[in-house]
Amino acid sequence: MKKANRGNFGTCAKCRQQILWIKTINGKNMPVNARLITYRVPKEGKGKERIVTPNGETVSAEIVQPGTQDATGIGYISHFATCPVANMFRRK
Ligand SMILES: [Zn+2]
Repeated sequence: MKKANRGNFGTCAKCRQQILWIKTINGKNMPVNARLITYRVPKEGKGKERIVTPNGETVSAEIVQPGTQDATGIGYISHFATCPVANMFRRK
């Protein structure tokens, strides 16, 4: 059997959305949204989104439209950043 570093699908305990567990290069498992996005690292070096690449690297970048010419690559968005239930708690 081939062992690809694709992570494991799971379900967020809070909002029940399908998520993906990515093992970061630091060895931590991180929940991300299952949908791949295209990102771009801005010239200033920091974007407002935290993106996890399929290799498990975390980068600060901006989400751009797929096919954007100067896009840096594809990756996943941290689920904690978008989880509607987690955000509900954070706002309180
Ligand atoms: Zn959630």
